[in-house]
Amino acid sequence: NVRVRFAPSPTGPLHIGGVRTALFNYLFAKKHNGTFVLRIEDTDQNRYVEGAEKYIIDALNWCNIPFDEGPGKNEKFGPYRQSERKDLYKKYADTLIASGNAYYAFDTAEELDFHRKDHEAKGKTFIYNWHNRLKLNNSLSLSAEEVEKRIANGDDYVVRFKMLDTTEGSHGTISTTDIIRGHVSFKKEVLDDKVLYKSDGMPTYHLANIVDDHLMEITHVIRGEEWLPSVPLHISLYHALGWKAPEFAHLPLILKPTGKGKLSKRDGDKLGFPVFPLEWNSPDGEVSRGYKEDGYFADAMVNFLAFLGWNPGTEQEIFNLEELIAAFDLERVNKSGARFDPDKIKWFNHHYMQDQNNEELAAMFQQNHEELKDIDVNYITMVVGLIKERATFISDFWNLSAFFFVSPKSYDEKAYKKSMKEGTRELLTELSGVIQTIEDFEVENLTSTIKTWITNKEIGFGKVMMPLRLALVGALQGPDVFDIMYMIGKNQTIERIENLAT
Ligand code: GLU
Repeated sequence: NVRVRFAPSPTGPLHIGGVRTALFNYLFAKKHNGTFVLRIEDTDQNRYVEGAEKYIIDALNWCNIPFDEGPGKNEKFGPYRQSERKDLYKKYADTLIASGNAYYAFDTAEELDFHRKDHEAKGKTFIYNWHNRLKLNNSLSLSAEEVEKRIANGDDYVVRFKMLDTTEGSHGTISTTDIIRGHVSFKKEVLDDKVLYKSDGMPTYHLANIVDDHLMEITHVIRGEEWLPSVPLHISLYHALGWKAPEFAHLPLILKPTGKGKLSKRDGDKLGFPVFPLEWNSPDGEVSRGYKEDGYFADAMVNFLAFLGWNPGTEQEIFNLEELIAAFDLERVNKSGARFDPDKIKWFNHHYMQDQNNEELAAMFQQNHEELKDIDVNYITMVVGLIKERATFISDFWNLSAFFFVSPKSYDEKAYKKSMKEGTRELLTELSGVIQTIEDFEVENLTSTIKTWITNKEIGFGKVMMPLRLALVGALQGPDVFDIMYMIGKNQTIERIENLAT
Protein backbone atom coordinates (compact mmCIF):
# COMPACT_ATOMS: atom_id res chain seq x y z
CA ASN A 1 0.00 0.00 0.00
CA VAL A 2 1.84 3.05 -1.31
CA ARG A 3 1.89 6.12 0.93
CA VAL A 4 3.87 9.19 -0.05
CA ARG A 5 4.09 12.63 1.43
CA PHE A 6 4.84 16.16 0.40
CA ALA A 7 6.46 17.82 3.39
CA PRO A 8 7.04 21.52 2.78
CA SER A 9 8.19 23.97 5.40
CA PRO A 10 5.88 26.99 5.53
CA THR A 11 8.69 29.49 5.07
CA GLY A 12 7.17 31.33 2.10
CA PRO A 13 5.34 30.66 -1.15
CA LEU A 14 5.83 27.32 -2.82
CA HIS A 15 8.50 27.58 -5.49
CA ILE A 16 7.76 25.92 -8.83
CA GLY A 17 10.29 23.22 -7.84
CA GLY A 18 8.17 22.44 -4.80
CA VAL A 19 5.12 22.08 -7.01
CA ARG A 20 7.08 19.66 -9.20
CA THR A 21 7.96 17.58 -6.09
CA ALA A 22 4.31 17.57 -5.02
CA LEU A 23 3.23 16.59 -8.54
CA PHE A 24 5.63 13.63 -8.76
CA ASN A 25 4.43 12.43 -5.35
CA TYR A 26 0.84 12.81 -6.47
CA LEU A 27 1.41 10.98 -9.77
CA PHE A 28 3.24 8.14 -8.06
CA ALA A 29 0.53 7.80 -5.42
CA LYS A 30 -2.31 7.79 -7.94
CA LYS A 31 -0.50 5.42 -10.26
CA HIS A 32 -0.30 2.88 -7.42
CA ASN A 33 -3.72 3.58 -5.92
CA GLY A 34 -1.87 4.96 -2.97
CA THR A 35 -2.27 7.90 -0.62
CA PHE A 36 -0.80 11.36 -1.02
CA VAL A 37 -0.15 12.99 2.34
CA LEU A 38 0.54 16.66 3.05
CA ARG A 39 2.65 17.29 6.13
CA ILE A 40 3.60 20.77 7.26
CA GLU A 41 7.15 20.81 8.61
CA ASP A 42 7.07 23.85 10.83
CA THR A 43 9.54 22.96 13.56
CA ASP A 44 11.72 25.96 12.79
CA GLN A 45 9.70 28.75 14.35
CA ASN A 46 12.18 31.39 13.23
CA ARG A 47 11.49 30.72 9.60
CA TYR A 48 7.71 30.43 9.89
CA VAL A 49 5.86 32.78 7.53
CA GLU A 50 2.24 33.74 8.02
CA GLY A 51 0.02 32.61 5.15
CA ALA A 52 2.50 30.14 3.69
CA GLU A 53 0.52 27.03 4.65
CA LYS A 54 -2.65 28.39 3.08
CA TYR A 55 -0.68 29.29 0.00
CA ILE A 56 0.67 25.74 -0.28
CA ILE A 57 -2.80 24.22 -0.03
CA ASP A 58 -4.31 26.73 -2.47
CA ALA A 59 -1.51 26.00 -4.93
CA LEU A 60 -2.04 22.22 -4.78
CA ASN A 61 -5.76 22.69 -5.27
CA TRP A 62 -5.31 25.05 -8.18
CA CYS A 63 -3.00 22.51 -9.84
CA ASN A 64 -5.67 19.87 -9.34
CA ILE A 65 -3.36 17.71 -7.26
CA PRO A 66 -5.08 17.82 -3.87
CA PHE A 67 -3.76 15.78 -0.94
CA ASP A 68 -5.70 12.80 0.39
CA GLU A 69 -4.59 13.26 3.99
CA GLY A 70 -3.32 16.36 5.68
CA PRO A 71 -4.29 19.32 7.84
CA GLY A 72 -8.07 19.30 8.11
CA LYS A 73 -8.60 16.30 5.83
CA ASN A 74 -8.78 12.59 6.67
CA GLU A 75 -6.70 13.07 9.76
CA LYS A 76 -6.18 9.42 10.64
CA PHE A 77 -2.43 9.84 11.09
CA GLY A 78 -2.76 13.42 12.31
CA PRO A 79 -2.07 16.00 13.36
CA TYR A 80 -0.19 16.84 10.19
CA ARG A 81 1.55 19.97 11.44
CA GLN A 82 4.77 19.16 13.22
CA SER A 83 4.29 22.03 15.65
CA GLU A 84 1.14 20.23 16.82
CA ARG A 85 3.05 16.95 17.18
CA LYS A 86 5.74 18.60 19.23
CA ASP A 87 5.23 16.43 22.32
CA LEU A 88 5.72 13.11 20.67
CA TYR A 89 9.29 13.59 19.47
CA LYS A 90 11.00 13.76 22.87
CA LYS A 91 10.33 10.11 23.52
CA TYR A 92 12.37 9.14 20.45
CA ALA A 93 15.23 11.43 21.40
CA ASP A 94 15.21 9.73 24.81
CA THR A 95 15.17 6.28 23.23
CA LEU A 96 18.19 7.16 21.13
CA ILE A 97 20.04 8.47 24.18
CA ALA A 98 19.18 5.35 26.17
CA SER A 99 20.45 3.07 23.41
CA GLY A 100 23.68 5.05 23.13
CA ASN A 101 22.87 6.39 19.67
CA ALA A 102 22.54 9.99 20.78
CA TYR A 103 23.88 12.22 23.51
CA TYR A 104 23.36 15.56 25.25
CA ALA A 105 25.59 18.41 24.24
CA PHE A 106 25.94 21.64 26.17
CA ASP A 107 28.27 23.58 23.91
CA THR A 108 27.31 27.20 23.67
CA ALA A 109 27.19 29.09 20.38
CA GLU A 110 30.32 30.98 21.45
CA GLU A 111 32.21 27.79 22.21
CA LEU A 112 31.32 26.28 18.87
CA ASP A 113 32.31 29.48 17.17
CA PHE A 114 35.64 29.40 18.96
CA HIS A 115 36.32 25.86 17.69
CA ARG A 116 35.34 26.84 14.18
CA LYS A 117 37.71 29.80 14.14
CA ASP A 118 40.45 27.85 15.85
CA HIS A 119 40.28 25.17 13.16
CA GLU A 120 40.11 27.73 10.42
CA ALA A 121 43.27 29.38 11.70
CA LYS A 122 44.99 26.03 11.27
CA GLY A 123 43.57 25.64 7.79
CA LYS A 124 41.13 22.95 8.89
CA THR A 125 37.35 22.66 8.98
CA PHE A 126 35.70 21.97 12.30
CA ILE A 127 33.24 19.09 12.25
CA TYR A 128 31.29 17.96 15.30
CA ASN A 129 32.13 14.30 14.74
CA TRP A 130 33.49 11.14 16.32
CA HIS A 131 36.96 12.64 16.41
CA ASN A 132 36.13 15.95 18.04
CA ARG A 133 33.16 15.04 20.18
CA LEU A 134 35.26 13.76 23.08
CA LYS A 135 37.00 17.10 23.42
CA LEU A 136 33.70 19.00 23.50
CA ASN A 137 31.15 19.81 26.09
CA ASN A 138 28.80 16.83 26.00
CA SER A 139 27.63 13.78 27.86
CA LEU A 140 30.29 11.62 26.23
CA SER A 141 33.04 13.63 27.87
CA LEU A 142 31.34 14.71 31.08
CA SER A 143 30.58 12.53 34.08
CA ALA A 144 27.05 11.24 34.53
CA GLU A 145 26.61 13.40 37.64
CA GLU A 146 27.75 16.47 35.83
CA VAL A 147 25.30 15.83 33.00
CA GLU A 148 22.40 15.32 35.39
CA LYS A 149 23.31 18.42 37.32
CA ARG A 150 23.38 20.59 34.23
CA ILE A 151 20.05 19.33 32.98
CA ALA A 152 18.47 19.76 36.42
CA ASN A 153 19.97 23.24 36.46
CA GLY A 154 18.05 24.09 33.33
CA ASP A 155 21.14 24.56 31.16
CA ASP A 156 20.41 24.72 27.46
CA TYR A 157 21.30 21.54 25.65
CA VAL A 158 20.82 19.82 22.33
CA VAL A 159 20.61 16.13 21.61
CA ARG A 160 23.07 15.07 18.94
CA PHE A 161 23.05 11.88 16.93
CA LYS A 162 26.17 9.77 17.32
CA MET A 163 26.74 9.40 13.63
CA LEU A 164 29.69 7.06 13.83
CA ASP A 165 30.99 5.14 16.79
CA THR A 166 34.57 6.08 17.62
CA THR A 167 35.69 2.55 17.04
CA GLU A 168 34.22 2.57 13.56
CA GLY A 169 36.52 5.34 12.54
CA SER A 170 35.82 7.53 9.59
CA HIS A 171 36.94 5.40 6.72
CA GLY A 172 34.74 3.90 4.11
CA THR A 173 31.27 4.80 3.02
CA ILE A 174 27.60 4.44 3.84
CA SER A 175 25.58 3.40 0.86
CA THR A 176 22.05 2.70 -0.21
CA THR A 177 19.88 2.49 -3.30
CA ASP A 178 17.89 5.39 -4.66
CA ILE A 179 15.10 4.63 -7.12
CA ILE A 180 16.28 7.37 -9.48
CA ARG A 181 20.01 7.34 -8.83
CA GLY A 182 20.64 3.67 -8.26
CA HIS A 183 23.54 2.88 -5.92
CA VAL A 184 24.57 5.97 -3.93
CA SER A 185 27.36 6.13 -1.39
CA PHE A 186 28.55 8.78 1.02
CA LYS A 187 32.01 9.20 2.49
CA LYS A 188 31.96 8.74 6.24
CA GLU A 189 34.70 11.26 6.84
CA VAL A 190 32.42 14.21 6.09
CA LEU A 191 29.54 13.08 8.30
CA ASP A 192 28.87 14.96 11.52
CA ASP A 193 26.76 14.50 14.64
CA LYS A 194 23.59 16.37 13.68
CA VAL A 195 21.33 18.00 16.22
CA LEU A 196 18.07 16.07 16.68
CA TYR A 197 16.39 17.85 19.53
CA LYS A 198 16.70 21.05 21.51
CA SER A 199 16.02 21.84 25.14
CA ASP A 200 13.28 24.27 24.06
CA GLY A 201 11.26 21.13 23.31
CA MET A 202 11.50 21.29 19.55
CA PRO A 203 12.90 18.55 17.36
CA THR A 204 14.98 19.49 14.33
CA TYR A 205 13.93 18.66 10.81
CA HIS A 206 15.87 15.38 10.80
CA LEU A 207 14.28 13.81 13.85
CA ALA A 208 10.77 15.04 13.16
CA ASN A 209 10.96 13.99 9.52
CA ILE A 210 12.06 10.42 10.30
CA VAL A 211 9.65 9.94 13.18
CA ASP A 212 6.73 11.22 11.13
CA ASP A 213 7.57 9.25 8.01
CA HIS A 214 7.63 6.18 10.21
CA LEU A 215 4.46 6.93 12.17
CA MET A 216 2.59 7.99 9.04
CA GLU A 217 3.67 4.73 7.38
CA ILE A 218 5.30 6.44 4.44
CA THR A 219 6.58 3.90 1.94
CA HIS A 220 8.40 6.17 -0.53
CA VAL A 221 10.19 9.43 0.09
CA ILE A 222 10.18 11.45 -3.12
CA ARG A 223 11.91 14.81 -2.71
CA GLY A 224 14.42 17.21 -4.21
CA GLU A 225 18.05 16.43 -4.79
CA GLU A 226 19.08 18.94 -2.12
CA TRP A 227 18.09 16.35 0.49
CA LEU A 228 20.37 13.62 -0.85
CA PRO A 229 23.22 14.50 1.57
CA SER A 230 20.82 13.85 4.46
CA VAL A 231 20.30 10.24 3.40
CA PRO A 232 23.17 8.68 5.40
CA LEU A 233 21.86 10.34 8.57
CA HIS A 234 18.30 9.34 7.80
CA ILE A 235 19.07 5.70 7.15
CA SER A 236 21.26 5.60 10.26
CA LEU A 237 18.37 7.02 12.27
CA TYR A 238 15.96 4.40 10.97
CA HIS A 239 18.50 1.76 11.84
CA ALA A 240 19.13 3.12 15.34
CA LEU A 241 15.39 3.22 16.04
CA GLY A 242 14.97 -0.31 14.74
CA TRP A 243 12.64 0.82 11.94
CA LYS A 244 12.51 -0.11 8.30
CA ALA A 245 13.50 2.85 6.12
CA PRO A 246 11.20 3.87 3.27
CA GLU A 247 12.49 3.83 -0.29
CA PHE A 248 14.09 7.02 -1.51
CA ALA A 249 13.81 8.86 -4.81
CA HIS A 250 15.67 12.14 -5.16
CA LEU A 251 14.40 14.33 -7.99
CA PRO A 252 16.83 16.26 -10.20
CA LEU A 253 17.46 19.96 -9.74
CA ILE A 254 15.58 22.49 -11.82
CA LEU A 255 18.13 24.57 -13.70
CA LYS A 256 18.15 28.13 -14.97
CA PRO A 257 17.07 28.72 -18.60
CA THR A 258 20.77 28.86 -19.49
CA GLY A 259 21.18 25.39 -18.03
CA LYS A 260 23.83 26.62 -15.60
CA GLY A 261 22.96 26.59 -11.92
CA LYS A 262 19.78 26.26 -9.93
CA LEU A 263 16.68 28.20 -10.99
CA SER A 264 15.99 31.11 -8.67
CA LYS A 265 13.44 33.85 -8.30
CA ARG A 266 15.96 36.28 -9.74
CA ASP A 267 16.07 34.40 -13.05
CA GLY A 268 12.34 34.90 -13.30
CA ASP A 269 12.59 38.59 -12.46
CA LYS A 270 15.35 39.04 -15.02
CA LEU A 271 13.64 37.23 -17.87
CA GLY A 272 10.07 38.13 -16.95
CA PHE A 273 8.50 34.87 -15.85
CA PRO A 274 7.08 33.81 -12.48
CA VAL A 275 8.64 31.08 -10.35
CA PHE A 276 5.53 30.64 -8.21
CA PRO A 277 2.22 28.98 -9.12
CA LEU A 278 0.09 31.68 -7.50
CA GLU A 279 0.67 35.32 -6.80
CA TRP A 280 2.21 35.79 -3.36
CA ASN A 281 1.68 38.80 -1.14
CA SER A 282 4.38 38.54 1.45
CA PRO A 283 3.65 39.82 4.97
CA ASP A 284 6.13 42.66 4.37
CA GLY A 285 4.20 43.86 1.34
CA GLU A 286 6.22 42.41 -1.51
CA VAL A 287 4.19 40.94 -4.37
CA SER A 288 5.53 38.05 -6.46
CA ARG A 289 3.93 37.04 -9.72
CA GLY A 290 2.17 33.71 -10.14
CA TYR A 291 1.44 31.53 -13.16
CA LYS A 292 -2.25 31.62 -12.45
CA GLU A 293 -2.50 35.40 -12.39
CA ASP A 294 -0.23 35.62 -15.42
CA GLY A 295 -2.88 33.78 -17.38
CA TYR A 296 -1.58 30.23 -17.45
CA PHE A 297 -3.94 27.28 -17.32
CA ALA A 298 -3.27 24.87 -14.46
CA ASP A 299 -3.27 21.89 -16.85
CA ALA A 300 -0.63 23.53 -18.99
CA MET A 301 1.60 24.23 -16.02
CA VAL A 302 1.20 20.70 -14.70
CA ASN A 303 1.97 19.19 -18.10
CA PHE A 304 5.05 21.39 -18.33
CA LEU A 305 6.23 20.53 -14.80
CA ALA A 306 5.84 16.81 -15.44
CA PHE A 307 8.52 17.12 -18.08
CA LEU A 308 11.00 18.73 -15.70
CA GLY A 309 13.00 15.60 -15.05
CA TRP A 310 10.63 13.01 -16.47
CA ASN A 311 9.77 11.92 -19.99
CA PRO A 312 7.51 9.19 -21.28
CA GLY A 313 10.11 7.75 -23.65
CA THR A 314 7.96 8.61 -26.67
CA GLU A 315 7.40 11.73 -28.76
CA GLN A 316 4.14 12.56 -27.03
CA GLU A 317 4.27 15.82 -25.11
CA ILE A 318 0.65 16.60 -24.37
CA PHE A 319 -0.61 14.70 -21.36
CA ASN A 320 -3.60 15.52 -19.24
CA LEU A 321 -3.45 14.58 -15.59
CA GLU A 322 -5.00 11.18 -16.12
CA GLU A 323 -2.59 10.36 -18.91
CA LEU A 324 0.29 11.51 -16.74
CA ILE A 325 -0.80 9.16 -13.97
CA ALA A 326 -0.95 6.29 -16.42
CA ALA A 327 2.42 7.04 -18.02
CA PHE A 328 4.38 8.17 -14.96
CA ASP A 329 7.17 6.05 -13.63
CA LEU A 330 9.94 6.99 -11.17
CA GLU A 331 12.33 4.78 -13.13
CA ARG A 332 11.99 7.20 -16.03
CA VAL A 333 13.01 10.22 -13.96
CA ASN A 334 16.46 11.54 -14.87
CA LYS A 335 19.35 12.10 -12.53
CA SER A 336 20.67 15.13 -14.34
CA GLY A 337 19.23 18.60 -13.81
CA ALA A 338 16.20 19.70 -15.83
CA ARG A 339 16.52 23.00 -17.67
CA PHE A 340 13.61 25.37 -17.13
CA ASP A 341 12.42 26.81 -20.45
CA PRO A 342 9.91 29.64 -20.01
CA ASP A 343 9.00 29.53 -23.73
CA LYS A 344 8.03 25.90 -23.45
CA ILE A 345 5.39 26.62 -20.83
CA LYS A 346 3.93 29.22 -23.21
CA TRP A 347 3.84 26.57 -25.90
CA PHE A 348 1.88 24.30 -23.56
CA ASN A 349 -0.45 27.16 -22.66
CA HIS A 350 -1.18 27.89 -26.30
CA HIS A 351 -1.99 24.25 -26.79
CA TYR A 352 -4.27 24.05 -23.76
CA MET A 353 -5.99 27.27 -24.87
CA GLN A 354 -7.36 25.36 -27.87
CA ASP A 355 -9.03 22.83 -25.55
CA GLN A 356 -10.77 25.41 -23.39
CA ASN A 357 -14.46 25.96 -23.62
CA ASN A 358 -15.16 29.06 -25.74
CA GLU A 359 -18.04 30.22 -23.59
CA GLU A 360 -15.91 30.12 -20.46
CA LEU A 361 -13.10 31.94 -22.22
CA ALA A 362 -15.59 34.52 -23.47
CA ALA A 363 -16.92 35.11 -19.98
CA MET A 364 -13.39 35.74 -18.68
CA PHE A 365 -12.57 37.94 -21.66
CA GLN A 366 -15.69 40.00 -21.07
CA GLN A 367 -14.87 40.38 -17.39
CA ASN A 368 -11.46 41.81 -18.20
CA HIS A 369 -12.72 44.41 -20.69
CA GLU A 370 -14.98 47.28 -19.91
CA GLU A 371 -15.62 47.70 -23.68
CA LEU A 372 -17.32 44.30 -23.78
CA LYS A 373 -19.68 44.91 -20.90
CA ASP A 374 -22.82 45.32 -23.03
CA ILE A 375 -21.95 42.94 -25.81
CA ASP A 376 -23.89 39.70 -26.23
CA VAL A 377 -21.82 36.88 -24.78
CA ASN A 378 -22.78 34.63 -27.70
CA TYR A 379 -21.14 37.07 -30.04
CA ILE A 380 -18.01 37.17 -27.86
CA THR A 381 -17.99 33.38 -27.81
CA MET A 382 -18.00 33.27 -31.60
CA VAL A 383 -15.16 35.81 -31.74
CA VAL A 384 -13.15 33.71 -29.30
CA GLY A 385 -13.68 30.68 -31.52
CA LEU A 386 -12.23 32.60 -34.46
CA ILE A 387 -9.16 34.04 -32.76
CA LYS A 388 -8.02 31.64 -30.09
CA GLU A 389 -5.76 29.67 -32.40
CA ARG A 390 -3.58 32.76 -32.41
CA ALA A 391 -3.69 33.32 -28.65
CA THR A 392 -1.50 32.05 -25.83
CA PHE A 393 -3.26 33.98 -23.07
CA ILE A 394 -6.71 35.45 -22.59
CA SER A 395 -4.90 38.77 -22.32
CA ASP A 396 -3.98 38.38 -26.01
CA PHE A 397 -7.65 38.36 -27.02
CA TRP A 398 -8.27 42.07 -27.17
CA ASN A 399 -5.39 42.82 -29.51
CA LEU A 400 -6.43 39.93 -31.71
CA SER A 401 -10.09 40.82 -31.83
CA ALA A 402 -10.77 44.50 -31.10
CA PHE A 403 -11.96 45.01 -34.71
CA PHE A 404 -14.87 42.66 -34.05
CA PHE A 405 -16.17 45.19 -31.56
CA VAL A 406 -14.98 48.60 -32.72
CA SER A 407 -14.02 49.94 -36.14
CA PRO A 408 -10.33 50.66 -36.65
CA LYS A 409 -9.26 54.05 -35.31
CA SER A 410 -6.19 54.14 -37.52
CA TYR A 411 -4.50 52.06 -40.18
CA ASP A 412 -1.19 50.32 -39.85
CA GLU A 413 1.23 52.43 -41.87
CA LYS A 414 3.01 49.65 -43.71
CA ALA A 415 -0.22 47.84 -44.41
CA TYR A 416 -1.70 51.03 -45.79
CA LYS A 417 1.19 51.58 -48.19
CA LYS A 418 0.99 48.01 -49.33
CA SER A 419 -2.74 47.98 -49.94
CA MET A 420 -3.62 51.43 -51.19
CA LYS A 421 -2.52 51.81 -54.82
CA GLU A 422 -3.80 53.84 -57.68
CA GLY A 423 -7.46 53.09 -58.23
CA THR A 424 -7.93 51.30 -54.91
CA ARG A 425 -10.39 53.85 -53.56
CA GLU A 426 -12.57 53.53 -56.64
CA LEU A 427 -12.45 49.77 -56.37
CA LEU A 428 -13.53 49.93 -52.73
CA THR A 429 -16.42 52.23 -53.56
CA GLU A 430 -17.54 49.84 -56.26
CA LEU A 431 -17.16 46.89 -53.87
CA SER A 432 -19.25 48.66 -51.28
CA GLY A 433 -22.00 48.93 -53.92
CA VAL A 434 -21.77 45.21 -54.60
CA ILE A 435 -21.99 44.38 -50.92
CA GLN A 436 -25.01 46.65 -50.64
CA THR A 437 -26.85 44.31 -53.02
CA ILE A 438 -26.16 41.15 -50.99
CA GLU A 439 -29.42 40.22 -49.30
CA ASP A 440 -28.39 37.00 -47.63
CA PHE A 441 -25.37 38.13 -45.58
CA GLU A 442 -23.95 34.66 -44.88
CA VAL A 443 -20.29 33.62 -45.16
CA GLU A 444 -20.80 31.32 -48.15
CA ASN A 445 -22.88 33.77 -50.09
CA LEU A 446 -20.52 36.64 -49.30
CA THR A 447 -17.54 34.63 -50.40
CA SER A 448 -18.99 33.55 -53.71
CA THR A 449 -20.50 36.94 -54.60
CA ILE A 450 -17.31 38.85 -53.95
CA LYS A 451 -15.05 36.27 -55.54
CA THR A 452 -17.20 36.18 -58.66
CA TRP A 453 -17.15 39.95 -58.85
CA ILE A 454 -13.32 39.98 -58.62
CA THR A 455 -12.99 37.23 -61.22
CA ASN A 456 -15.27 39.06 -63.62
CA LYS A 457 -13.21 42.21 -63.25
CA GLU A 458 -10.14 40.23 -64.21
CA ILE A 459 -7.95 41.72 -61.52
CA GLY A 460 -5.76 40.02 -58.90
CA PHE A 461 -7.49 38.95 -55.71
CA GLY A 462 -4.94 40.80 -53.58
CA LYS A 463 -5.92 44.11 -55.17
CA VAL A 464 -9.31 43.83 -53.48
CA MET A 465 -8.74 41.52 -50.53
CA MET A 466 -5.85 43.49 -49.06
CA PRO A 467 -7.57 46.88 -48.88
CA LEU A 468 -10.77 45.17 -47.82
CA ARG A 469 -8.97 43.58 -44.87
CA LEU A 470 -7.28 46.87 -44.09
CA ALA A 471 -10.66 48.60 -44.04
CA LEU A 472 -12.18 46.06 -41.67
CA VAL A 473 -9.23 45.36 -39.36
CA GLY A 474 -6.90 48.33 -39.69
CA ALA A 475 -4.05 45.94 -40.43
CA LEU A 476 -3.35 42.97 -42.65
CA GLN A 477 -3.94 40.39 -39.92
CA GLY A 478 -6.79 38.45 -38.43
CA PRO A 479 -9.07 35.60 -39.37
CA ASP A 480 -10.78 35.04 -42.69
CA VAL A 481 -12.12 38.33 -44.18
CA PHE A 482 -15.52 36.83 -44.96
CA ASP A 483 -15.87 35.57 -41.39
CA ILE A 484 -15.15 39.08 -40.18
CA MET A 485 -17.73 40.62 -42.54
CA TYR A 486 -20.34 38.15 -41.44
CA MET A 487 -19.59 38.79 -37.77
CA ILE A 488 -19.67 42.59 -37.86
CA GLY A 489 -22.63 42.63 -40.27
CA LYS A 490 -23.53 44.41 -43.45
CA ASN A 491 -23.82 47.98 -42.14
CA GLN A 492 -20.50 47.92 -40.30
CA THR A 493 -18.80 46.34 -43.30
CA ILE A 494 -20.02 49.05 -45.64
CA GLU A 495 -19.25 51.79 -43.17
CA ARG A 496 -15.67 50.61 -42.70
CA ILE A 497 -15.07 50.22 -46.43
CA GLU A 498 -16.36 53.71 -47.08
CA ASN A 499 -14.23 55.12 -44.26
CA LEU A 500 -11.15 53.91 -46.07
CA ALA A 501 -12.37 54.81 -49.55
CA THR A 502 -13.18 58.43 -48.84
N1 GLU B 1 10.62 20.08 5.07
C1 GLU B 1 11.51 19.66 4.02
C2 GLU B 1 11.38 20.69 2.89
O1 GLU B 1 11.00 21.78 3.16
C3 GLU B 1 11.12 18.27 3.57
C4 GLU B 1 12.23 17.47 2.98
C5 GLU B 1 11.77 16.05 2.80
O2 GLU B 1 10.89 15.83 1.95
O3 GLU B 1 12.29 15.18 3.51
O4 GLU B 1 11.66 20.48 1.75
